[in-house]
Amino acid sequence: MTEYKGKLGLYIGGEWLNSDGRDTQDVLNPATGETHAGLPMATSDDLDKALEATQRGFAEWRSTAPVERAAVLTKAASLLRARGDEIARIATLEQGKPTAEAKGEITLAAGLLDFHAGEAQRIYGRVLPRPTGSRSLVLKQPVGPVAAFCAWNFPVLNVVRKLGPAVASGCSIIIKPSEETAGSAIEVMRCFQDAGLPANVVQMVFGVPDTISRHLLSSSVTRKLSFTGSVPVGKHLLKLAADTVMKSTMELGGHGPVLVFDDCDLEITLDLLVANKFRNAGQVCISPTRFYVQDAVYERFAQGFAERTGRIKVGEGLDNSTQMGPMANPRGVTGINELVNDARSAGARILTGGDHGNQGRGFFYSPTVMTDVPLTARAMNEEPFGPLALISPFATVEEGIEQANRLPFGLAAYCFTENGRLQNRLAEEVEAGMIAINNVALSAPDSPFGGMKESGFGSEDGPEGIEAHLVIKTVHIK
Ligand code: NAD
Repeated sequence: MTEYKGKLGLYIGGEWLNSDGRDTQDVLNPATGETHAGLPMATSDDLDKALEATQRGFAEWRSTAPVERAAVLTKAASLLRARGDEIARIATLEQGKPTAEAKGEITLAAGLLDFHAGEAQRIYGRVLPRPTGSRSLVLKQPVGPVAAFCAWNFPVLNVVRKLGPAVASGCSIIIKPSEETAGSAIEVMRCFQDAGLPANVVQMVFGVPDTISRHLLSSSVTRKLSFTGSVPVGKHLLKLAADTVMKSTMELGGHGPVLVFDDCDLEITLDLLVANKFRNAGQVCISPTRFYVQDAVYERFAQGFAERTGRIKVGEGLDNSTQMGPMANPRGVTGINELVNDARSAGARILTGGDHGNQGRGFFYSPTVMTDVPLTARAMNEEPFGPLALISPFATVEEGIEQANRLPFGLAAYCFTENGRLQNRLAEEVEAGMIAINNVALSAPDSPFGGMKESGFGSEDGPEGIEAHLVIKTVHIK
């Protein structure tokens, strides 16, 4: 078995806690289905200790000079880079993605920490003009202890997106990353610890997700909820947070529409879209999924997409020649298989894929392209979160926009056209928190990342990621 070096534990009050006296959950290798190691699960007592620690951590950290907070973030970024190869290997071994993708994720995560280090020093308020002897101040203060929960698809970046802005803004945070990719999250935690972060500022726990979120969100200590995951779980957590009117950031699912107009450069568009669709085996919240293609180029697009997809090399993520790894867990494979079979039985045509491939073990599913998928098929309405592309034709601009906006999701959208007037119209009328026009890159440290409609609210990254951790206080002095 390939050696897995993840050192699994809980981090509470500056101490690493192992499985003694605790239940464990297996961390698996998605490429083989084999077990790497057992992850300790937090007990109720552990969670109480985490809440006590986060309260102490907040009292200390909120009064620490921004420049000191920045120094910790800068150091954590450099440790993340220095340890990047080893952390990428752990990420591949527990999540499945090709190692080159894991390295790219770590580079982005480190850049994000550097960005937050700068923003930590720019949390400005305002002084309002008043008659002599009076003064009004607008103060921005850290909201308080954060409870954060995140998905397994970007096992390093998702964790950094929670820790970075909390630490920068002077909050403390209890984070529950995905149990399935605990080793990567723990390596991020170690970078912060080794960067000199005081003991109680960040606690990292794992366990039964519903038990942990109920415990943390019912406590009056917790002042902010930050969640990255599916729409149904997000709605459930929001209801729990409502009881204490908790500030919340919701990074939920999507069903990315792509509008391909007949004036675009089709070959470049196809190269970009096929590579992007199957990145991380399609397990990306902003993954392009519904491809709406204008009539005149529809046949060429569908054929070109299927040909390119059929050439993708699927295999274990540690193999340098692999372009797409396994899915991260068996429920992902079951889910995508159900959507494909449902569409097939509703009359959809499979241009390539539609099966488990020939790896013989692990959680693999072939890169799959379908056309003629009825609007009523589940795949056209539910987020596949896997290697599935759905291609449909459209005639007019109005029809394309209507299709793009048809679902309750509003996370990412992609448009390809050389027509500047149309680009402006699409930017105005397509309902998505992030729109890429003639490209597929949507994530950068300085740009807000987030959705609208049922894809959530609040942003991560950019100055907006810090704002989401602040409360505003107005003071009138006479
Ligand atoms: P999920 O909602 O079931 O789980 C996501 C994470 O939340 C996991 O780590 C899980 O342990 C945790 N979780 C589940 N139930 C919980 C509960 N009751 N309390 C606390 N935590 C809980 O989703 P999934 O299927 O594992 O992940 C994929 C989903 O995440 C997709 O819908 C995807 O679009 C979404 N996602 C969104 C973003 C974004 O930034 N918008 C990024 C990544 C993933």
